[in-house]
Amino acid sequence: MNETRTHTRSSALFSRAERVIPGGVNSPVRAFRSVGGHPFFVASAKGATISDVDGNTYIDYVQSWGASILGHGDPQVIAAITEAAQRGTTYGAPTAAEVELAEQIVADVPGADMVRLVSSGTEAVMTALRLARGVTGRDRIIKFAGCYHGHSDAVLAAGGSGVATLGLPDSRGVPANAVADTIVAPYNTIPAIDEQIACVIVEPVAANMGLVAPTDDFLRELRAACTRAGALLIFDEVITGFRLGRGGAASHYGVTADITTLGKVIGGGLPLAALAGSREIMSALAPTGPVYQAGTLSGNPLATAAGLRVLSLLDAKNYELLTQRVARLARGLSEVIADAGLEVQVPVVGSLLSLFFTDAPVHNFDEAKRAANTGIYANFFQEMLARGVALAPSPYEVAFVSLAHGESEIDRTIEIAASAARVVAEAK
Ligand SMILES: *Cc1c(COP(=O)(O)O)cnc(C)c1O
Repeated sequence: MNETRTHTRSSALFSRAERVIPGGVNSPVRAFRSVGGHPFFVASAKGATISDVDGNTYIDYVQSWGASILGHGDPQVIAAITEAAQRGTTYGAPTAAEVELAEQIVADVPGADMVRLVSSGTEAVMTALRLARGVTGRDRIIKFAGCYHGHSDAVLAAGGSGVATLGLPDSRGVPANAVADTIVAPYNTIPAIDEQIACVIVEPVAANMGLVAPTDDFLRELRAACTRAGALLIFDEVITGFRLGRGGAASHYGVTADITTLGKVIGGGLPLAALAGSREIMSALAPTGPVYQAGTLSGNPLATAAGLRVLSLLDAKNYELLTQRVARLARGLSEVIADAGLEVQVPVVGSLLSLFFTDAPVHNFDEAKRAANTGIYANFFQEMLARGVALAPSPYEVAFVSLAHGESEIDRTIEIAASAARVVAEAK
């Protein structure tokens, strides 16, 4: 075990970064604010591991926030990107790869007849909301507290706790009227849906407040309530799509949304996301319909090449393998952390897991916040990092296991977690 990790180069880079990049990072959670210290700067990554500029290597459970389901730098994906790049990196004109990727999504995602490719999950959600409003002629939307749908104005409101309330902006710079039509409801409860509601957007498995599974009938009842009210149901499957299986959470739970947003896995580590839905709904997008959306780099040839190669490798056997690895990790973590004397929940849904340092299962954002506020995650994170395991630098993120995480990496992680948990328990 390398206990003499140095961070001189990362420190120097972070100081430079802070002078020219707000907070030193280009996405806030990367700054390590909620766990303390400062981020390591990455030199390279391969498979299950990531290495920093000071020569430290970590078993990585961030995996670009779930974008790398095969693990870092998969040779086949690199080959696909390299081949594509030889033919030019962007055209702003249609390509065969876009059609192939759309066909694959249509084949696997329930309710998807047509697909529009975009460059980020934020964009996919933004367009899905505009489309839902355009199609229904209604303005109001319902989201759930603790669900993340990217950083566009309408869905930044995470909301107050308890009863469904009109959302207040959670960020300065979001005008009150941009969220005046956003209603925030607690996860795992069916909100009141009336004839003013254009859509209900939900992470069918919430994976941005730690991992919170839908309770037994939540998705089915939500589907029925939307249908009754003539509101569209949007599944934000940016994390779960092609991770819980090729059909995402929709197939996993047997509930079909009207619009599905995808991202992360389908880009194979390059900027690519998508929205998909019925022919009727999707045809409302320009140029066939009145709802406008566009993108200079949409359907980018490098991104579609990477995405197609990744999808070509995701078969039932690999999902089974991933699910087994996650189950092994979850079992091990919950055992060794509890043995150390810490209260812990390790929720698992298929190939997703997270850690809550609390004594009871978590069903919604309030309970997730209570678990996060104990501060134990931050200490555990630091002890893991010091021993060579990089968890997400936030208690609200899940751990992303990739197909490159073999049994040896999983077992090593559990071993390290045992030591880390003992140190955290002693310091308590
Ligand atoms: C990551 C994420 C987004 C935003 O995607 P970006 O590509 O970061 O814009 C949206 N929804 C969910 C569920 C996500 O996890």
